[in-house]
Amino acid sequence: MSPPTGGSAARARARAGVSMGDGGADPLRGFLGVFRYSRRALELVWSTSRGLTLALGLLTLFAGAMPAAIAWIGAQIVDAVVAAARLAGTAGGATVAGVAGVGTDGAAAPDAARLRVVELVVLEGVLVAALAAAQRALGLCQSLLRAQLGQRVNVMILEKAVTLTLAHFEDSEFYDKLTRARREASSRPLSLVMRTFGLVQNGVSLASYGVLLVKFSPWAVLVLLLAGLPAFVAEAKFSGDAFRLFRWRSPETRMQLYLETVLAREDYAKEVKLYGLGARLLGRYRAIFDRLYREDRRLTIRRDSWGFGLGLIGTLALYGAYGWIALEAVAGTITLGQMTMYLLLFRQGQSAVSASLSAIGGMYEDNLYLSTLYEYLETPVHRLQGGRSSGPDPADGVRFEDVGFRYPGADRPALEHVTLHLKPGTSLALVGENGSGKTTLIKLLTRLYDPSAGRILLDGLDLREWDEGVLRARVGVIFQDFARYQMLVGENIGAGDEPAFEDEARWRDAADKGRAGEFIEGLPGGYRTQLGKWFKDGRELSGGQWQKIALSRAFMRMKADILVLDEPTAAMDAQAEAEVFEHFRQLASGRIAILISHRFSTVRMADQIAVIDDGRIAELGSHEELMRRDGVYARLFTLQARGYR
Ligand code: ADP
Repeated sequence: MSPPTGGSAARARARAGVSMGDGGADPLRGFLGVFRYSRRALELVWSTSRGLTLALGLLTLFAGAMPAAIAWIGAQIVDAVVAAARLAGTAGGATVAGVAGVGTDGAAAPDAARLRVVELVVLEGVLVAALAAAQRALGLCQSLLRAQLGQRVNVMILEKAVTLTLAHFEDSEFYDKLTRARREASSRPLSLVMRTFGLVQNGVSLASYGVLLVKFSPWAVLVLLLAGLPAFVAEAKFSGDAFRLFRWRSPETRMQLYLETVLAREDYAKEVKLYGLGARLLGRYRAIFDRLYREDRRLTIRRDSWGFGLGLIGTLALYGAYGWIALEAVAGTITLGQMTMYLLLFRQGQSAVSASLSAIGGMYEDNLYLSTLYEYLETPVHRLQGGRSSGPDPADGVRFEDVGFRYPGADRPALEHVTLHLKPGTSLALVGENGSGKTTLIKLLTRLYDPSAGRILLDGLDLREWDEGVLRARVGVIFQDFARYQMLVGENIGAGDEPAFEDEARWRDAADKGRAGEFIEGLPGGYRTQLGKWFKDGRELSGGQWQKIALSRAFMRMKADILVLDEPTAAMDAQAEAEVFEHFRQLASGRIAILISHRFSTVRMADQIAVIDDGRIAELGSHEELMRRDGVYARLFTLQARGYR
């Protein structure tokens, strides 16, 4: 199935909601939006590995508090050095008043002061080493978590995919969510958590700088915080715009992904080459990029100029504070050590603020991802799901009662007023032009979709009341676009009966019935030959050979009491098709066999033939009846028979 392309109306709606760079968005709301998914990401990480999350949390706090402690020790070192130098200057003389803890002995005093300096330097060295170790450990925890989390999220996505209905996969907006969710599953959740932790770490650092600075002046703390604020607000606002921009442009991004697939995958390569589509498709790919790039550029330029301008205010404020601190030191109100520390705190404070800013920018993107992920995971799959495993009248077979169906979003019904009765042990052939609704009828019978009108009964019980598993086990279908699994030949056959997926004896039996046994024996690895080109030593089969595999798959399902062949024999010659169907009918004795075919030589063998025209049953009866009726069927049959003569 090819990815559907997206609703332009939805995009226009979204576009109207985006006002890039105007003052419309509420910065506070925008800012809080950054944390919208942090809690959920955190829960996800916590439930993935408690130990690692706990370690991350503790290390983050530690790494956040360390810089301030190191700065404080640095100040002590400078002051101790100054004191020691002063003592050395008066060595041999009297004690210097005001330097506490220094003995009265002239020679011992500089020694003690020297020792103190060395002690402090060693302490700072230890702290710096500890900080480095903490950062290493943080990195280690992150890589371990990343691996676990990536797998976890991917499994969550796939588990959900298994529960979805076919309608979901055919809905372009939904498909969008699925692709986006899958694309960055392994990196985004952890990234959001790490950025949240990073923000906490910088917050702890800033708070600890504040504690030290408040001794100098509470105003200084205020300057430190306010200096970062304008740039903070700008970042929050523009990140919010970027968030919305990314969201509505996703159909374009999806088209780009799709073009990449077409241009770079083996199943398209043949046509793309022969029809010379490469340049045109590449041109489209480029055009999408150019359009997106223009929008990006506009946003990026606005974001960066505002960021720079507002950041400048912050820098000015910080340097004002810088000058203030220096002057205080000149005036002697603070020691040289304190001045060094305050200046360091300011400088580090500023980088903590800008680190927080870029974390916030990144968090918006992570949020975008997580919003898609959770929207996808929380897609309601509400289906009427009965629990019955048998019906009141097992001899009744299948009944369509005035069934109608319209595909979601379609403007006209694909089926209308379909009424049919298939007794066990009989066969039905469906004929009709392409697009008349034959496959749709099968999709309803197999409950891939539910009818929009009327009802379908099996053994006298509405399909909707059947347990889905029991129902599926009773129906075996091979669609015209059957799956070609890039797995072993045998597994491709075994797929028809899941419990016997790896049962080699059953593969052989089914392959003989599906007329595939002969060519499979001729393959290099027999039933263990890898199929498809994706994997090493994979063999590609011809269309007809694939169909034989698909047929064999249907024959695996002999426990099913309704068997459906939806044109899987089109690539075989008429003779082979007729033989296969005859075989199929014999094996299906006591069961219901349904066949869709354009070959009247096969169709005529069915007990009942339904001619479908534009979603309605135009004619219904046996070959003889329909021939006598001399309607559409008779005309088409004669036309085709003449062709063979
Ligand atoms: P047939 O099997 O007779 O060739 P189908 O049952 O596949 O025809 O299609 C019947 C009609 O329903 C067609 O008009 C087709 O365009 C439409 N249709 C088929 N599949 C879908 C789908 N997934 N979504 C919307 N319309 C569909």
